[in-house]
Order: sequence, then C-alpha cells, then structure tokens
Amino acid sequence: MSNQTYDVVVVGGGNAALCAALSAREKGASVLVLERAPEDKRGGNSAFTGGGFRMVHHGTEDIKKVVPDLTEEEIGRSDFGTYTAGDYLDDLGRITQYYIDPDLAEAIVNNSFETVLWMRSRGARFIPNYGRQAYNVNGRFKFFGGIVIYANGGGRGLMELLYKSLETHGIPVRYRAQAQELLRDDRGITGVRARIDGREEIINARSVVLACGGFEANREMRTRYLGPGFDMAKVRGTRYNTGDGIQMALDIGAQSYGQWSGCHSVAWERYAGDFGDVEHPHAGYRHSYPFGIMVNSEGQRFVDEGADFRNYTYAKYGRVVLQQPGSFAWQIFDQQVKHVMRDEYKLRGATKVVADTLEGLVEKMQDVHPQNFLDTVRDYNAAVKQDVPFDPNVRDGRTTVGLAVNKTNWANTLEKPPFEAYSVGCGITFTFGGLKINPTSHVLDTEDTPIPGLYAAGELVGGLYYFNYPGSTGLMAGAVFGKIAGQEAAQYVAANPR
Ligand SMILES: Cc1cc2nc3c(=O)[nH]c(=O)nc-3n(C[C@H](O)[C@H](O)[C@H](O)COP(=O)(O)OP(=O)(O)OC[C@H]3O[C@@H](n4cnc5c(N)ncnc54)[C@H](O)[C@@H]3O)c2cc1C
Repeated sequence: MSNQTYDVVVVGGGNAALCAALSAREKGASVLVLERAPEDKRGGNSAFTGGGFRMVHHGTEDIKKVVPDLTEEEIGRSDFGTYTAGDYLDDLGRITQYYIDPDLAEAIVNNSFETVLWMRSRGARFIPNYGRQAYNVNGRFKFFGGIVIYANGGGRGLMELLYKSLETHGIPVRYRAQAQELLRDDRGITGVRARIDGREEIINARSVVLACGGFEANREMRTRYLGPGFDMAKVRGTRYNTGDGIQMALDIGAQSYGQWSGCHSVAWERYAGDFGDVEHPHAGYRHSYPFGIMVNSEGQRFVDEGADFRNYTYAKYGRVVLQQPGSFAWQIFDQQVKHVMRDEYKLRGATKVVADTLEGLVEKMQDVHPQNFLDTVRDYNAAVKQDVPFDPNVRDGRTTVGLAVNKTNWANTLEKPPFEAYSVGCGITFTFGGLKINPTSHVLDTEDTPIPGLYAAGELVGGLYYFNYPGSTGLMAGAVFGKIAGQEAAQYVAANPR
C-alpha cells in the first residue's frame, strides 16, 4: 500500500479518462491514471476510432477556430453548413426515440464546441473529415450528417497527443493496473483496490473518476444483458472493457441506468478476429451499404439500406444482421458506386466475391439461396426511381417504389459488372447501459443522491443512447463529461478537506 493519497484517481486510459485527468490537473488536483492495458495497448476503444467528433458549429468561422491552419483553398471547396444546438438535440432525440436523458443531452450539446476548443488547448489537433463525411461532387465537398471534424491521425493520433499532454502536465499513468473495487467510508470515496502488474494494491484517493468503458468485451455479460446471439458478436475495439467500472460502482450502491439490453453494433467483416486490431482498426468496417443492398441467407433484403445517412443507421444494423438466419448477410455493389465506397473494402481480410454476372456472383456467395437472390435483385432493379439523380452528399430521395422493404435514398440499379459482394456479421462497438450520472458527472445512488467523491464519464454512463446512436457522439460525450468530471472532482476535494 502506497502512503500517497491522490486527490483524483482516474480509472481508465481512453478519451474520457484522459480528458478527466487533464481537467482535474488544470484545477490544481494531484491525479493518478490507472490503465488496465499494457502501455503498447493503451487508449481503449478511443484508440480504435476514426476520431470523429459531433459538435455544434455555425459554419466556416467556427471550423477555423478548431482548425486554424485551414487553407483558403480548402475553405473555397468546402460547404461546412451549420450544425446548431437545435439540430444536435433533434438528432439525439430522434435517433434514441426520445428516451435520452434530456439533462445529459443538453450538457453534451451545450458544451460540445467549447470542449473541442479546450481539447485543442490540451494538445489535441483536428481536421475536416473530407471523403468520409463529404463526398466530392463537382469539385465541392458538402458535409452531411452532423460531423465535420475528426482528430488528426484518427483515434490513435488523438490518444498519442493526449498521453503526451499528460506527461507535459505531470500526470502519472500506471499500466497493467486493473481497478477492482471502490473503497469508501461514511463520508465518501477513500480509494481503489487494484491489481497492478499482478499484485494487489490499495490506492488512496479523495475522489475517483470511473472512465473504464462498457461491458462489450465481456461475452458473458453481453449474452446476459444484450440477449442470445451476442456471444457470437465480434468486438470492434479493445478487449479490456469488461464492465469492471459499472460493477464496482453498483457494488457500492450506484444506480443502473439506460438501456442495458442495447448496444452500438454494426455490420462488420464476418470473419474478423474476436477483438479489434489497433494496427488495422478500420479493416472490418463495411459502412458503404447505403449505396448497395444487403441480403440474408434466404436471398432477401431485410432492411432499408438507405433509410438515412450512414451516421444514423449503422449503429443499429449490426443487431439486425445478427438476427438474420445464421447471423450473417451479404452486401452487394456494382461498378456505378465504386467511387463512393470506403477504402476498407479494398483491404486484405475482406470476405469478398466478384463476378461478371449476378448468377456467377450468387454461386460464390456462401449459403445464399440463389434463385431468391436473383428474384430480389430483379425486383429491386425494377423498383428504382431512376428519374431522381443520385447524390451521396444529401438524402437524395432516389428511392424504390412498391417493394416490401423499400430503399429510401441512394437506390441504384445493380447492373454494371463486375458485381462485388462482401459477407458481414455483427461487430459490437460499445454497450448502452451503465451508471446514472447528473450533468456534473456525479454518480448517483439508487435514490438519485450523488455518491460523495465518485464521478463517471464515457461509455459506462447510461441514459444516453437507446436503440440507436448518432455517429461520433461517443468521443464528444466522453470528452464533455470527462472534462466536467475532472473539474468537479478537483473542486469537491478542495471544498471537502479531510
Ligand atoms: C472501431 C471503432 C470506431 C469508432 N469510431 C468512433 C468515432 O469516430 N467517433 C466517436 O465518437 N466514437 C467512435 N467510436 C466509439 C468510441 O470509441 C467510444 O464511444 C469512446 O471511445 C469511449 O471512450 P471511453 O473513454 O469511455 O472508453 P475507452 O476509450 O474504451 O477507454 C476505456 C479504458 O478503460 C480501461 N479499463 C477497462 N477496465 C479497466 C479497469 N478495471 N481498470 C483500469 N482501466 C480499465 C481500458 O483499458 C481503456 O483504456 C468507435 C469505436 C470503435 C470500436
């Protein structure tokens, strides 16, 4: 047992945790970070991300504040649009069927832009997301779906810069440090019991920020809470988020909150590894389905691939794929949409088949009913409203008409060979259920009373997402509540001397 007592111990080593650590330090607290992973695997799911941040902005002037070195040439060819607080709240409400905790939603939205600027002041760097959030149409990039910026270097770049910032600000990190129990007395939190490098230690702390992820990497909890079949899902990111923080807090009386049976899960390379590979974090992405079709083993379409921008549908379609017979599907494209397909489709490891005819294609598509598939494509092709022009930057209204499952936007006939098909399964990103916090990131007990000295941020916060999730809110919410948690913890310690 070390004799030192830290003002703030942060459990976790991802985006939410590092924001909490930096903001607590900024407020004058002594801080220790406990990261379960070894140093070379640090950074949690945050390191696997594309680095997208969904923030409020009012156009070019705001984007220039976040990306000061934007060139005139870049500005000239960009239409950043605006994304107001009203837009953001509408998206959070609409996408979660209006179950999102309204106080937490407002906290995310109202702090989003300032928090990104603050992250910049702590060393993070951002750039516009050309190519993924804006396609080149006649030389101009029009941004869509509420996301303009992402961290330079993606999630890994972000984590490198934030870890560097920890060093600059004198915040120690202990690796291979798995927090296992929260310690408290009648006045509040007193520390953490952790297993560090295989040895048990008691870390004394005046306050604790839990930012150690959801339970997506815990196969048993997945099956118990998300339902049968989720044991078969592939984990897109880190193996270390096994629900420890949630369990530790529940054990001392914290309140469970949010949709425990819900998760963010996507159509993902069918034969991907059990966990993500941080060297190739995006290899399993199969996010171009709005421009093609998806069929199941019965050769049937089962979902509106073009219901909305990818940002607003991808997080719920993993579960839909999982629910298909055999828990897999195929995505089919032709050469007309090749130019808008994401790069990951070209990477090694994709389960891909190619043929010059649809008959030849389905012969190669493992376990798909051939005649049903050919009928599906014939009916789909006949139903495409071809008089509406295709435009990937807007909800173009190029729909199908008269099908049992229509495609609402970006419907293109499958007619230009060679045809390509990619097999997908379900990849889980993170879980929705977790702890209840208030807008100051304080963890609440089962009577809605704050547990003195206990704060939480990031994936393990419940009450944010239900059924679905608007893309790039995870990093933003983690940063907002992480920053608040750090500053609140520091202020709590200063105001409550022992
Ligand atoms: C492939 C992929 C792409 C994504 N792309 C985006 C994107 O572009 N934009 C976006 O907003 N979101 C994205 N997300 C979601 C995003 O990763 C999460 O919402 C966000 O990173 C969660 O941050 P966090 O700090 O809560 O958790 P994490 O970054 O996962 O950090 C949790 C940390 O806790 C540590 N830990 C776990 N248990 C313990 C313990 N007992 N003791 C100590 N430490 C522990 C872990 O090692 C890890 O360091 C993506 C996710 C994946 C997997």
